[in-house]
Amino acid sequence: MECTSKEQTMAVAAYGAQKMDAQGYRFEKVGESSAYEVFAPGQAVPYLVESDPEIVAIMDGKNFCNCPFAKTNEEFGTCKHYTWLLTKLEEERQAAEDEQAWEDWNDMKEQAIAERVLREAMI
Ligand SMILES: [Zn+2]
Repeated sequence: MECTSKEQTMAVAAYGAQKMDAQGYRFEKVGESSAYEVFAPGQAVPYLVESDPEIVAIMDGKNFCNCPFAKTNEEFGTCKHYTWLLTKLEEERQAAEDEQAWEDWNDMKEQAIAERVLREAMI
């Protein structure tokens, strides 16, 4: 499908991306590079999705996916794979932040307990 504007491209990509979880898509980071492989269910060869310098936002001309839609609409800089991956990576970042906040809170709690034990021992 050939789109005529960035807005249309983003809408089509977002619509497709919404269904990808239910369809069983998965992704893997390619080594230490900024690229990811996106696997369609039942398809042996993944799509290669990457961005310069990393996948953080929809930016014209810096994103790459080797699917036919991305090739046709290259100038608008997205496709459903890229949009979906962006969401997934954001979820991962959020989960990592939540985990770090939880660890920090536990560290503070342990520190407070240790200090109280120490104070009580000195009384
Ligand atoms: Zn794509």
